[in-house]
Amino acid sequence: MIDQGKIREAVKLLLEGIDEDPGREGLKDTPDRVARMYGEILAGMEADAAVPLSRVFSVESSEMVLEKDITFYSICEHHLMPFYGKAHIAYVPDGKVVGLSKLARTVEIYAARLQIQEQMTGQIADALMKHLAPKGVMVVLEAEHMCMTMRGVKKPGSRTVSIAVRGAFEENSMLQERFFQMLRMG
Ligand code: ZN
Repeated sequence: MIDQGKIREAVKLLLEGIDEDPGREGLKDTPDRVARMYGEILAGMEADAAVPLSRVFSVESSEMVLEKDITFYSICEHHLMPFYGKAHIAYVPDGKVVGLSKLARTVEIYAARLQIQEQMTGQIADALMKHLAPKGVMVVLEAEHMCMTMRGVKKPGSRTVSIAVRGAFEENSMLQERFFQMLRMG
């Protein structure tokens, strides 16, 4: 459970640590604002992807479904800085599909945690395999990491791309090729 009281204390200490005055006009409500903000941007820690992914519909078709350009915002667990970008999810149904908004909701649940991009990519793929049981899943995430662009190596605009493949996508490189073709369309 997120403890907002602890976050407020920590932010006050942080402000003192950087030689600021937590009591001055512009900062006096900052610990409270930051505590409420973390409650929102880390809300995925208390959410379960089984909920959105249980809303399924039966289908006859086993054609690949691709949902692309799902915008996400997450927090890098190494620096507590944002990384954000797009998720692209494809799966080959095995008798059932899920509403498209539920894929976006699944991304949101895993993004709203302290994360590592590669781990988040795998978690989304595994959640789909587990709850939707398709023939295969492929997830691609592309993101800009503030810990790389604002500090350290400072490479603005550079993006990190991560991929997770499961089931049919692992065995069939034509399916992977088709994913990238569909990604490039429109
Ligand atoms: Zn980082």
